[in-house]
Amino acid sequence: MPRGSHRGTSGTTAPPGAERVGPVTGLTLDLPKRGTLRILCLGAHSDDIEIGCGGTILRLLASRRVLCRWVVFSSSESAVRQREAHRSAVRLLARAASAEITIRNFRDGFFPFIGAEIKEFFEVVAREGTPDLIFTHHRYDRHQDHRLISDLTWNTFRRHLILEYEVPKYDGDLGIPNCFVSLDRTVSRQKVRHLLSSFGSQRDKRWFTGETFFGLMRLRGIECASPSGYAEAFYGRKLILA
Ligand SMILES: [Zn+2]
Repeated sequence: MPRGSHRGTSGTTAPPGAERVGPVTGLTLDLPKRGTLRILCLGAHSDDIEIGCGGTILRLLASRRVLCRWVVFSSSESAVRQREAHRSAVRLLARAASAEITIRNFRDGFFPFIGAEIKEFFEVVAREGTPDLIFTHHRYDRHQDHRLISDLTWNTFRRHLILEYEVPKYDGDLGIPNCFVSLDRTVSRQKVRHLLSSFGSQRDKRWFTGETFFGLMRLRGIECASPSGYAEAFYGRKLILA
């Protein structure tokens, strides 16, 4: 059940009959706190999950008993990328009660053209159990592989809480997310350190820098008035609150 509070606005300019709706603040989702939290993390490529929701996962792991199912769909047919993806997941999930990690090798950049194969694998993952919370790509992500993973997530998991994460990129597809997770400075730094130390093969990419990751978290921190100044942001497209 959700907990929340509503604060009315104090303005007096609403037209007659118009309902004044104030901002919703302090709304939290009552995911299981004492019991086990089952999360499913879906990422098209080796580092997507860590970039999009690595801080949120660290925060969940620090406060709850978490069972994590982690799926990366492509490691670019590269042994180095595959090793990096696996080691990164193992390290990030060190505090999880259990972590089941799969790194697949669907063809990088061609997901929309091999959608049937990927859909079949989604069905296998869906039969494994029912997660409490699913992290996946943003529906309007401009990368075709990301977008397909997002579409198949919604197509496969019909009655689940799904949060769509964002990945900064050259294409420029950042939008206006509506769900935020504040991260304290320690967790924010831990996330960035983890990314930079886990994915050495990406260091030659100009965007793969601490500045990029801190910058986006700082921007989202402003948007949710995070006490630390940092946050990760998500699209909660459909939230059933009660
Ligand atoms: Zn990606």
